[in-house]
Amino acid sequence: MPGEPQADCLFCKIVEGQIPATIVRESDTTVAFRDINPQAPTHVLVIPKVHYRDAAALAAAEPTIAADVLREAQTVADEEKLESYRIVFNTGAGAGQTVWHAHAHVLGGRGLEWPPG
Ligand code: AMP
Ligand code: ZN
Repeated sequence: MPGEPQADCLFCKIVEGQIPATIVRESDTTVAFRDINPQAPTHVLVIPKVHYRDAAALAAAEPTIAADVLREAQTVADEEKLESYRIVFNTGAGAGQTVWHAHAHVLGGRGLEWPPG
């Protein structure tokens, strides 16, 4: 079933509490936790509790939850007191996606170059 937990998915395991994470926020539909390999002073991942392989698949199937992810990203940025920040959805291996459960990176706390690498 689309959206169902996947046994081999790291982020489904974090949602289910089977793998520890430094959780900073949780809502009915999302979890936000610190990235284990931070690329900026603030580097938080916001994920939907439902499993979709990337942000576009999530938005197509569950647009309300996709909006929840964006709203939670904003709340994380506010709580971390970030004046400017970047929300990144790596999509596809060539763009650096390594975990196939939709997630937003919230990055801030340092200058962020544009264009990104
Ligand atoms: P991506 O490369 O866009 O798929 O992002 C996956 C992110 O998940 C990377 O930034 C990893 O550092 C992060 N990550 C992998 N395993 C964990 C974990 N157990 N807890 C927190 N973050 C993780
Ligand atoms: Zn998953």
